Amino acid sequence: MCTINLGPLREVMMHLAASSSVELVGYVIGYKAGHEGEIHASALIMARNMSKAAEKEFIAEPRDILVAHTVAENLGLDVVGVFHTHPSCPPVVSAKDREGMRNWPIVWIVASPRGLGAYMPGGSGGGIGEIRRCTIR
Ligand SMILES: [Zn+2]
Repeated sequence: MCTINLGPLREVMMHLAASSSVELVGYVIGYKAGHEGEIHASALIMARNMSKAAEKEFIAEPRDILVAHTVAENLGLDVVGVFHTHPSCPPVVSAKDREGMRNWPIVWIVASPRGLGAYMPGGSGGGIGEIRRCTIR
């Protein structure tokens, strides 16, 4: 089971997806609660996209993750997710995203003008490369 409660960040993410022709990236700060480990998103910290092909991929500026971790620590929270936009593709993880999920095994939220998707690495069988779709609240 994988559930993420975005609260008002859902609208923010949808707005971001529709507002730029390049991929935007950021980190979701929040906490896990309940016996099912539902993720509650409290804040979104944007990172700079350093890719030269930013209309179809992102490479987050490495120092920006330090900012996200510092903000999370100051708020007593954790970095619980990676957020990015697909300005002209559906909100599903790409092959490149799947590679990134191996390095960042936390929830990945993809926003496009068509909607939102959330994914967690690791299938029910625990196989490498498997991905679960999360419920978004
Ligand atoms: Zn992507």
